[in-house]
Amino acid sequence: MGLLDADRSAEPLEPSLQCQPCGQMLDEPLSTPCGHVFCANCLLPWAARRRHCPLRCQLISRQEVRRVLPLRSLVSRLEMKISHLVRIASFSLSLKKK
Ligand SMILES: [Zn+2]
Ligand SMILES: [Zn+2]
Repeated sequence: MGLLDADRSAEPLEPSLQCQPCGQMLDEPLSTPCGHVFCANCLLPWAARRRHCPLRCQLISRQEVRRVLPLRSLVSRLEMKISHLVRIASFSLSLKKK
């Protein structure tokens, strides 16, 4: 296995599942009329205060924000996968310590 293979197996977080303002994986994803998706906790206070998309592309109102249910189940599946990977990683780490 070369260096390139190791890089590919690192699997960086899908950029589209990342919330730009907080940099975390989308939590309760909500989409704006402009097609951007943010976590509810990032978007709702922002939309109430500033009345535009956090990426400054257009004006939005809270009423125009929509839940993205397919994305939400995708995110929860990914989170399950990640916590599984973390458990495996910490397990193999604890084996190494012994
Ligand atoms: Zn966020
Ligand atoms: Zn936008």
